[in-house]
Order: sequence, then C-alpha cells, then structure tokens
Amino acid sequence: MKTIGVIGAGQLGQMLGLAAAEVDMECVFLDPADNPPASSAGRVIQAAFDDAAELAALADCCDVITYEFENVPVDAVRAIEAVCPVYPPPSALAYAQDRLSEKRLFESLQIPVAPYRRINSAKDLQQASEDLGLPLVVKTRRLGYDGKGQAILRNPGDAAEVVAILGGQNLIAEQFVEFDYEVSIIGARSTTTETIAYDLSRNEHRDGILRMSQASDENPQLGDLAKDYLSRILSRLDYVGVLALELFVDGEQLLANEFAPRVHNSGHWSIEGARTSQFENHLRAISGMPLGDASTLGFPGMVNIIGMMPEDRRLICAENAFLHDYGKTPRPGRKLGHATIVASSATELQLGLSRLRDLLPD
Ligand code: AMP
Repeated sequence: MKTIGVIGAGQLGQMLGLAAAEVDMECVFLDPADNPPASSAGRVIQAAFDDAAELAALADCCDVITYEFENVPVDAVRAIEAVCPVYPPPSALAYAQDRLSEKRLFESLQIPVAPYRRINSAKDLQQASEDLGLPLVVKTRRLGYDGKGQAILRNPGDAAEVVAILGGQNLIAEQFVEFDYEVSIIGARSTTTETIAYDLSRNEHRDGILRMSQASDENPQLGDLAKDYLSRILSRLDYVGVLALELFVDGEQLLANEFAPRVHNSGHWSIEGARTSQFENHLRAISGMPLGDASTLGFPGMVNIIGMMPEDRRLICAENAFLHDYGKTPRPGRKLGHATIVASSATELQLGLSRLRDLLPD
C-alpha cells in the first residue's frame, strides 16, 4: 500500500484521504491545527508548515509528498525533495504564490490576461488608473484567497487609501473585467506525462468566495480553448498532479485569472459527477498510476455551504443531493461543506441547484 504525505489537513486533504482508500493508498497529513477536517481521513502530524524536522519525518514515512493549499513555504518543500518526491513540483507553487509571476507565466504561454500593472506605491496606482482606466481590482501579490487581500479602486482620489489598506507595496492592479461568467478547467498530468481534463466548470462567486459550480459543455469551443491553455501550463511546468485554471469568459475570449496547483473547490462535483474524481486522479497522477476516466456523469453541480450548516439535513438529502460536511466549527464566511447533485438534464440541474440554494443558509 502506498503512503501519501499531504501538507495541510483541511477539507481538500480530507477528500484526498477518503479517495485514497479507494485506490488502496493511505494519507498522512501535516498541519498545525488541532483536530483539522482531514483527521477523520488519516493520521495527522501536528506541526508548523515550515517545521523542517517534522516535514522530514513525514517524508520518511511516505512514498510521495503533496499539498492541499498553495501557501506552503516553497523552501521547506524544496528541502524535502531530496528525500521524497514532491508533486506538484515546487516551481508550480512558486508561480502560484505570486500573482505577478503567475501573470508573466500566462503571458509567456500566450494565454490572455486582463491588462495589469505592478504596484508599489500610491503613485504607481494613480499611473495605472490613467493607463488602464477605472475601476481597477487591486490585489496583494501574495497570500490572498477567497477575495481577501483585494480592493476595488473606483475613484483616482482613493488610490493612496487602497494602497495603504493592502499593505503599501507588492501589489498588482488589474483592469476590472466585465466578464459574462467565470469558469475553471481542471486537469491532471501524471509522472508518465499522461494527461486528462474534466469538462469546464461554470462558477459563481459572491464576495470573492465560490458559491456554486456546475459542469458545463454548452460551449465546446470555449472548453477546447481552456483545455489548450491548461495543457500549455502543464507542459511548461513539467507538472504532476491536478491543476485548476480559473478564467473569465468575455464573449468568445478567455482571460486567465489564476491557477491553483492542487485539487480545487470548483471540481467537487467530480466526486459524484465524474467517472473518476479529481481527488482520485490527483493520487493516481502523483503515484504513477494510470489516470482514471474524467468524463462527466449526467448533469452535475455543487453548492458550497458557507457560514453555517443547514438545520435540517434531511431536506438536502430529499433533493437527491450528496451532502459533504467537513466537520468544521461554523464561522461567518467559512466553507463548512458542500452539496452535489447529479441531474438527468440541464433543466433539472438548474431547478435542483436553485432548490438547494433556497435550502442552504445564505
Ligand atoms: P481571485 O482571488 O483573483 O480568484 O479573485 C476572486 C474573485 O474576484 C474572482 O473569482 C472574480 O469573481 C473577482 N475578480 C478577481 N479579479 C477580477 C477582475 N480583474 N475583474 C473582475 N472581477 C475580478
């Protein structure tokens, strides 16, 4: 039986751990938290993410190391690479941790992005607003997630305040994209360079947090374009594992927003709605197994449960939905679980998703 070391033991780790059992693997996690979600799916070494001794202990007992969030210290994982393979490659982590390098990577691969500027002062932001127009989305280059570390500049007079709120420097300002909708493409590449991709996922965010995703094959051209962009990134990074690329749809054009070198919330519908889930395919990819069939089953969609779990869970199950409870303490804005439905038609999926949204806390 192969043992997979997972840095991070949140809900993504939990779902990796559950998938591991299906392919005769086990996961051991490393996380500083007390009783994190993945503790229900494997042993957890409680340690800081940069604790060299504990990372070495993890590497000693595992066949391969992976991670379930992208703010893992790059130097710490590079240090254990000598003892144990680390997938996805730490170079992918380094790109994903800095929005500026990430944008430059996209550009070097001829993947379109929203026009942007590097910002280190209020003066830079004023200049960017003249060059790119307003509004601008200003983001910290590092450590932003779920809309945190972001602000919108609407009036040039607010530039100094926006820069100050976001820490004064190491920022990026992007043109505000009036997108039609948002999508992500999730795929996997294995140690043998075998590659698969899921159907495009159509995503809805509110306040920067993903609310809802559904598999979408309504526009095959967009799907093919997204797969092409994804495969350019996978090849350039000599990537191993699952990668999610988030994009804005603007007419027939796709603009890359960011990528995550890991399994992704917008692919949770693949647990019940694809022949092989993103979690199983990640494990297969990093351990050199053949990848599983990523084709979609029926019409799947997912709604995130944020802030508090529904009081009456039977109502969710009565909708033929699959309820996933991460076992986390409720807190406003916190992802606590998700519910998936696999419908038998596109119309039924829309009805099911709207019924689920009505039942779930907002
Ligand atoms: P991010 O942290 O970059 O994934 O941004 C979180 C969410 O904010 C995205 O999913 C979009 O809904 C929105 N957003 C980010 N960047 C832009 C942009 N340049 N224009 C419009 N909306 C954006």
